Amino acid sequence: MITNKTLKLSLKSLRDFAKKKLPDETLRELDERDECPLDIVHHMCSPDQLGIQLLFVPEDCGGFGGGAFDVYLVCEEMARIDLGVATSVLATFLGSDPITVGATPEQKKHWLSRIAQEGILFAYGATEPEAGSDLGALKTTADPVRQDGRVAGYKINGNKQWISNGGIADAYTVLANTPGGPSWFVVEKGAKGFTHDEPEDKHGIRLSNTAALAFSDVYVDADRLIGGVEGQGLNQAQAVFGYTRLMVAAFGLGAGWAALDRAIPYSTKRIQAGAPLSEIQGYSHKLIVPHVARLEAARAYIEETAERIDAGNEGSLNTEGAIAKYMATEAGNMAADASIQALGGYGYTHEYMVEKIKRDVRITTIYEGTSEIMEMTISRDRWQMHLKTRGQHYHQQAKKFEELHARHANVGADSAALALHALAEVMEKARIGRLTRFQHILLRLGELIAYAESAGSLARRAALLAENKLNEKAHRRFDAAALATLSRIFAREAALKVAEDGLRWVVGAGGVNDAEIAGFEATLGLLAIHRAQAGLIQDQDLIADVLYGRVAKREIAA
Ligand SMILES: Cc1cc2nc3c(=O)[nH]c(=O)nc-3n(C[C@H](O)[C@H](O)[C@H](O)COP(=O)(O)OP(=O)(O)OC[C@H]3O[C@@H](n4cnc5c(N)ncnc54)[C@H](O)[C@@H]3O)c2cc1C
Repeated sequence: MITNKTLKLSLKSLRDFAKKKLPDETLRELDERDECPLDIVHHMCSPDQLGIQLLFVPEDCGGFGGGAFDVYLVCEEMARIDLGVATSVLATFLGSDPITVGATPEQKKHWLSRIAQEGILFAYGATEPEAGSDLGALKTTADPVRQDGRVAGYKINGNKQWISNGGIADAYTVLANTPGGPSWFVVEKGAKGFTHDEPEDKHGIRLSNTAALAFSDVYVDADRLIGGVEGQGLNQAQAVFGYTRLMVAAFGLGAGWAALDRAIPYSTKRIQAGAPLSEIQGYSHKLIVPHVARLEAARAYIEETAERIDAGNEGSLNTEGAIAKYMATEAGNMAADASIQALGGYGYTHEYMVEKIKRDVRITTIYEGTSEIMEMTISRDRWQMHLKTRGQHYHQQAKKFEELHARHANVGADSAALALHALAEVMEKARIGRLTRFQHILLRLGELIAYAESAGSLARRAALLAENKLNEKAHRRFDAAALATLSRIFAREAALKVAEDGLRWVVGAGGVNDAEIAGFEATLGLLAIHRAQAGLIQDQDLIADVLYGRVAKREIAA
């Protein structure tokens, strides 16, 4: 259990360390040289130095036993510094996850204590040349080696692709097929028959080491089979997706904000047509404000999911992890791209860093499950809810936001309700027309679900902040009035997106005919959603004022 004070101290140490050891110039040079700064990674993971890894190791194994909320905040902070270095640290989180969820008590004690006490680095070896999104296609094998009639060990053969820390880790968790099914094994560096390739020459996160692994008759003792029972591998991987995807979501959030936090001050100094760019509405309301709203909606979803994971009674929250990852990483990419535009020609050069951030953040929609796989995960799960509740799930959710709106008229809960009602109608039309037989429709529903649910999260958090009831660790960049304004901006966008895109896909897939379209538009509440856009420009003005310090005391230091 980590107190708020300890957490804030850790975040501050991380920032101070980065300021000293990883200034922009160093980051640019390492990026240029395509070099993983191993000394920095070790420093961050060593118990007698920064010791970031101690945060997530359980207390009985020598760590601090941090929860999902702590890990989210640390991941966001690391991503603000450099996503490549953050990925190196994350690889140990990921690599040790199969151990945390599936290992025997002895295995846990052994490996997690080594992470805490020795600062050893892990890598997570799931992906293969022919098994990426579809991990079930994995070909790496682990064949039992028998002695005196019992399994004494396993021989591992196969290849792994794109493994973070692949060339620098001390230990690897490796997914391989056993006679009982896919299973995780721990393989140590230097094991006979185990090799790794040269690091990949990547588009971004060039400070992280990514390498292919090869296993040729690599022998491991039977106690290296995580959990001691074959065939648990995919379940163990599934069990932590809610948590691990939340970490990558925090990466998207941190990188997106890192880019905006360069674009915002830049635009106060850059004078064009006689005024700073920051004072030009067509600039701030396109390149800055909508991205802030999307990132904060994603943050709201991350924070709610982290709180639920830490409460510990709702299972693995895979779908929520997928929504958080999808929204935050897509928003992070859009924010970084807009930040290049915001800096014009300067943004397009290496020197101003937003170009590097944009290349770096690109990975977040690919690793730990691509955005398309997230859409599928989200849609499949919520589709079942739609069916089980006979189409009422999102209508019921919408009613809760109507109630919230009655208590807090300014947190965007009315627009969130419109988004959720529209979503329920789109899904019902999809059911009647059997439209999910088109895979594209299923995935597009995933996107609309993610937008509508995130609008709800942000409205709820804005209301909690107004009531002064937010978790004390919650990130506080904006005060209650500003967060409510961001929520109104995002909820309007979500409602419009759900209704208009939903209409497009239902009509596009033949779910309604010509004569039925007007009626469907009415059930979607399109008119109300269009009306709800009233006040949007004023709200954007207010957020621009907050971001540029034109509203006294609106902004509270993070
Ligand atoms: C820098 C980097 C670091 C990484 N680190 C690790 C690591 O540490 N450990 C590890 O195990 N893996 C790691 N990965 C692998 C990463 O998780 C995979 O790249 C990712 O899961 C996608 O797999 P793939 O590359 O084989 O793409 P594919 O699965 O071939 O997908 C290609 C495209 O097709 C889409 N697609 C695939 N299936 C479907 C579908 N059913 N419906 C719709 N669209 C679909 C995908 O969304 C994607 O856009 C890393 C990758 C990179 C690039």
